[in-house]
Amino acid sequence: MTRRAVVTVLPVLFLVVSLLCGVTEASEPISVLESSVVVDFPGSITFKITAGAGSSITDIRLHYTVNRMSHVRVVSEVPLVFSPSSRVEARWVWDMRMSGGLPPGSAVDYWWTVRDGNGNMMETLPERVLVEDRRYRWRNLSEGGVTIYWYNGSDGFARELMTAVNSALARLAESTGAVLERPVYLYIYASSSDLRGAMIFPQEWTGGVAFSGFDTIAIGISPDGAGMDWGKRAIAHELTHLVVHQITFNPYNSLPVWLDEGLAMFTEGELEPAFVEILNRAVREDRLISVRSLASPFSAFTEQSLLSYAESYEIVDYLIRSFGQEKMLSLLNVFREGCGYDEALGRIYGFDMDGLHARWVSALEPAVTD
Ligand SMILES: [Zn+2]
Repeated sequence: MTRRAVVTVLPVLFLVVSLLCGVTEASEPISVLESSVVVDFPGSITFKITAGAGSSITDIRLHYTVNRMSHVRVVSEVPLVFSPSSRVEARWVWDMRMSGGLPPGSAVDYWWTVRDGNGNMMETLPERVLVEDRRYRWRNLSEGGVTIYWYNGSDGFARELMTAVNSALARLAESTGAVLERPVYLYIYASSSDLRGAMIFPQEWTGGVAFSGFDTIAIGISPDGAGMDWGKRAIAHELTHLVVHQITFNPYNSLPVWLDEGLAMFTEGELEPAFVEILNRAVREDRLISVRSLASPFSAFTEQSLLSYAESYEIVDYLIRSFGQEKMLSLLNVFREGCGYDEALGRIYGFDMDGLHARWVSALEPAVTD
């Protein structure tokens, strides 16, 4: 508000100075009379501007950048559509369906450039708009680098989730040496349907989602008993994705999916019986998916997808139990350098993904067939 007032006062001063100096031909400079933003979470953000000038305004551009973990600060530039005039009201709607949604708690910095027909240009100072899910009254609980936001359930509910967070982080650190590098934010929705309301393209099965670039997790957890057991696992799973992303992020390469998902499953705790059963059946029927195939995104078909998760857990479990925490941390550090998958495994363990598959399967079979 203060900034806007300053912006509108300036042209008046300039005009006074111009008159005092007897300059008669100076045109009135460009001024931004109003600039506003409306966040309609999660679907859109509308940016509006009213600008005036002594001559026709011919060009208005919105510049914005999203605050997220990135090696390159990406500034987007949007030319607005309007009819040239000495006073212009224009708007631009950022449709999140086109770009993918922003998580609650994220921030967008934006500024305007306005040009007139005389070749004058003015640029506003950057402003920040916070993207929040205002459908609910959020409370928060912080501990260490973790903040939990929730709106349904008691303080005890949030404390119980914080305990789950701490044990997941402890388990992850113990098995891989990986620890949080930056604060993380957990948004706990009261149900998966509330959570779906926060997402642009919700899937029916969405229970939790990690926005890795934003260090943010959103999960639907109902405060009753059965929901809590699932919720604690979901927190451990998504939190692991954040930590692993923080410590391996690089502009060159992502992790093999089996490692990313395997670590997330491993931090959840023991493999659940349904997964064990699917894995055992695949072993009996000799149709395990290769480690190399599991480096790419998993199949969308349920049975194959569940088997992919189960195998990823087992592969990571094999690596950690056979070769220890230090090697797993070394592997993650090598991936941070943007190393290829086979090369990274070769450097740390001395075998590639095919070698890993062969070793893992031979270690697995006696355990699951007895
Ligand atoms: Zn996952």
